[in-house]
Amino acid sequence: MSGTFDGYGGRHVPDPLEAPLEQLAATYDDLRDDDDFRADLDLFLRDFAGRPTPLYYAERLSAEYGAEIYLKREDLLHGGAHKINNALGQGLLAHHAGKDRLIAETGAGQHGTATAMVGALLGLDTEIYMGEKDIERQKMNVFRMRLMGAEVNEVTRGDAGLADAVDAALEDFAANVEDTHYLVGSVVGPDPFPRMVRDFQRVIGDEAREQFRERTGGLPDAAVACVGGGSNAMGLFDAFRDDDVEFHGAEGGGEGAASKRHAAPLAAGEDGVIHGMKTRVIDDDVEVHSVSAGLDYPGVGPEHAMFRAVGRAEYTGIPDDEALAAFRDLAEYEGIIPALESSHGLALAKRLAEAGEHDTLLVNLSGRGDKDMEQAAERFDLG
Ligand SMILES: *Cc1c(COP(=O)(O)O)cnc(C)c1O
Repeated sequence: MSGTFDGYGGRHVPDPLEAPLEQLAATYDDLRDDDDFRADLDLFLRDFAGRPTPLYYAERLSAEYGAEIYLKREDLLHGGAHKINNALGQGLLAHHAGKDRLIAETGAGQHGTATAMVGALLGLDTEIYMGEKDIERQKMNVFRMRLMGAEVNEVTRGDAGLADAVDAALEDFAANVEDTHYLVGSVVGPDPFPRMVRDFQRVIGDEAREQFRERTGGLPDAAVACVGGGSNAMGLFDAFRDDDVEFHGAEGGGEGAASKRHAAPLAAGEDGVIHGMKTRVIDDDVEVHSVSAGLDYPGVGPEHAMFRAVGRAEYTGIPDDEALAAFRDLAEYEGIIPALESSHGLALAKRLAEAGEHDTLLVNLSGRGDKDMEQAAERFDLG
């Protein structure tokens, strides 16, 4: 089967989706090395998204945590997170393939917002599927999407959550493949999405590797990132795949090690099939939960499942309170407010630093924390 990672991944989909996915894979294989496509993408990444992002040496945080910590500043991108890298790549792919309509699903609204930005940029009709409950909880993101011209379709079936929005988007894609591209938001789903989204996010790792060498003359001992679906982590790791650099992924550990509420399919899940791929999934008797909405996903990218199985990467569930502590640390020591998702990576970097086995850590700061202010204000009483 195409697009498998040592048995993980693949295309576990109903018949009507086989042909659309095969066509998409062919389009991607044609365009990925096309000079015009690359030139367009590079220009938009620079002028629209704000690449390259800096590599920042966090001197005061390093002194506090006890290792040299370098941050890849994806929080400085347009939209405030790495999601725009992938949205631009797939939006342009759709455009070059002659499609004039984008669809996407969104949970917390961040991926829907990135898709809406690209839809407006390229003049493509954009429809976002979102569960009724999430629409209620994420009013500002729904407003943002509509402001940029996207239609937000309320999904009321099932639990009216993210998984139901995925199903609705897949059905739309199967019915409208001639003019529609389904813009998947992470390294998840059936082939070709996991490898395509990885390739579009690899710009993170390529830049960081070059910047790190320029700055220090070498490579970091470890690369660290948070893992929801796994796209920012995979975009970082991929560029160091053949290097002597350890990979560490931080999942949403929820309320702690013994809890039946977490979002850590790699650290504490089992093999299974979800959303068209074979991967690690959270067991049925566990409720998916993390303090950060962006990590609240019951599956994970299949290539991470492979990295875990072969021991190339190590994954750790970071409890909510540790992530929140790291969130405050970065604000206080560096004047940078990270996304709660990214704070899980910082908390894992702290654990690694304290264990004392690594001198230099490269941490992907996947996004900024503005969206999390209300939630943080509820947790911290600052007088
Ligand atoms: C969406 C999001 C994530 C999680 O997605 P991945 O695919 O795992 O990268 C992490 N950080 C931020 C800031 C996000 O918006």
